[in-house]
Amino acid sequence: MASPSQELVFAPLGGAGEIGMNLSIYGLGPEQRRQWLAVDCGVSFAAEEHLPGVDLLLPDIRYLVEERRNLAGIVITHAHEDHFGALIDLWPQLKVPVFATPFSAALIEAKCAGEPGAPKIPVTVIARGSRFKVGPFDIELVTMTHSIPETNALIIRTPCGNVLHTGDWKLDPTPILNDPTDEKKLRAFGEEGCLALIGDSTNAVREGRSPSEAEVAKVIAELIKTAPGRVAVTTFASNAGRLRSVAEAAIAAGREVIVVGRAMDRIVQIARETGYFEGLPEFRGVDAYGALPPKKVVALCTGSQGEPRAALARIAEDQHPDIKFSRGDRVIYSARMIPGNEKAVGRVINGLIEQGVEVITDRTHLVHVSGHPRREELEALLSWVKPAILIPVHGEALHLTEHGALAKRCGVRQVIQCRNGDLVRLSGDARIIDEVPAGRVYKDGMLLVPADVRTVADRRRLSFAGAVSVALALTEDGRLAADPEYDLIGIPERDRDGGFLHEAVHDAIIEGFESLPRGRRRDPDSVAEAVRRAVRAAVAGRWGKKPMCHVHVLPV
Ligand SMILES: [Zn+2]
Ligand SMILES: [Zn+2]
Repeated sequence: MASPSQELVFAPLGGAGEIGMNLSIYGLGPEQRRQWLAVDCGVSFAAEEHLPGVDLLLPDIRYLVEERRNLAGIVITHAHEDHFGALIDLWPQLKVPVFATPFSAALIEAKCAGEPGAPKIPVTVIARGSRFKVGPFDIELVTMTHSIPETNALIIRTPCGNVLHTGDWKLDPTPILNDPTDEKKLRAFGEEGCLALIGDSTNAVREGRSPSEAEVAKVIAELIKTAPGRVAVTTFASNAGRLRSVAEAAIAAGREVIVVGRAMDRIVQIARETGYFEGLPEFRGVDAYGALPPKKVVALCTGSQGEPRAALARIAEDQHPDIKFSRGDRVIYSARMIPGNEKAVGRVINGLIEQGVEVITDRTHLVHVSGHPRREELEALLSWVKPAILIPVHGEALHLTEHGALAKRCGVRQVIQCRNGDLVRLSGDARIIDEVPAGRVYKDGMLLVPADVRTVADRRRLSFAGAVSVALALTEDGRLAADPEYDLIGIPERDRDGGFLHEAVHDAIIEGFESLPRGRRRDPDSVAEAVRRAVRAAVAGRWGKKPMCHVHVLPV
């Protein structure tokens, strides 16, 4: 039994209030001597229009770094980027043991191998469904269905109560790979007693149940069978079950599978190594493409999110060195558009249609299903596990609220709504008791920078309104020693009346300088500031936008 000062706490450091960047921590012990367990370590993809040049968002792990001596380990539930994508960048600050099942471990290793300078992360490989210890936490994996092999929920047993951390899941009675969600184990856990369920809320606003992977497989098989020419399928590379469905459909139609794109190559190799493609013939590389008649081809392509450098985007622009489509070919979009990618995906689809290619999406055919539970599935899980407390995670505010309301209606006694950084006590008097540092950091090129960094904000301003750079040579007695040097970057050439903006900038520099009383013209800082103001005002008056302006004053 737990001593009275022992308590179990939980804090989301990512994923509560957003879909992505999942990282949760559990703490056990008296307040001053807590031991920690981290679950997942994911990224989000940055929106280019808000963060020019920033590719990834990562959780801010200041708190874990501070507590790393008490951090027993990180358990990865499954190998989606929003659950493991931040490991490479953040693990070196923690250097704690990482636990993952074979497929996820292989993906972590492949990712490290593919990134120059990546750390060597020692991963303890654990069997699916197994029970193991991480520090004082007694953890048991529960097989769940989702859109990638080896997705696990965690039963976390502690002297202060037991938790079910669902990770991502859905109920799929007929998945393509792995077993269906382990209902028996979940029901038994419900009988044993579940203090808190920390659960996926992604589809909490969607009624009913999500269709099965097997139904998608059927539709894809039919589309491949009836295709008059070549077929290409694009999907998330990590959805090895979907890839297997496509391969089986290709075989049934007497076609060969051609793998196009590096991410797809990598998953195919890992799926072979981990036994998920057993019984399938070898796939072909892009070099086989030209030699095969159209009716013999099914190309598996990366680029379902419109990524400009991925295979499908290059094919759509007729820029791919090996793969070309033509009139009568069929492209199956077997993926969801991640919000924010609509424009990029639209560009690719339109490019294909311009080439005469038929594009099939999930708007008209069941060629994709979500890997997350809809409302009836959420209700089923709650009825099996019967938690005393529900904490909705993995969702935006709307999803979390809906999940909470649904749990209340299902008879869950307490729903705790929290956001990243809230520290929740689960045992005893359960509630939010504290706050820990949380937030996001940006991956900017090779560097991690805090989200409040000025450089990213500067780049946004630069992309919006350009820049003017001015150099002035200032004599000791406060005169300009030469005509000013200046450059306009990203600023239109002429105003509405046909006047040149660079001339306006020149005049503004002189006027700004001369607006200063003689006595202050000797002071480089005053000169720089006066010129800066005058230049920005002059451009704004002619363009309607204020550029950044840098003035260098060189005393001569
Ligand atoms: Zn997932
Ligand atoms: Zn997820």
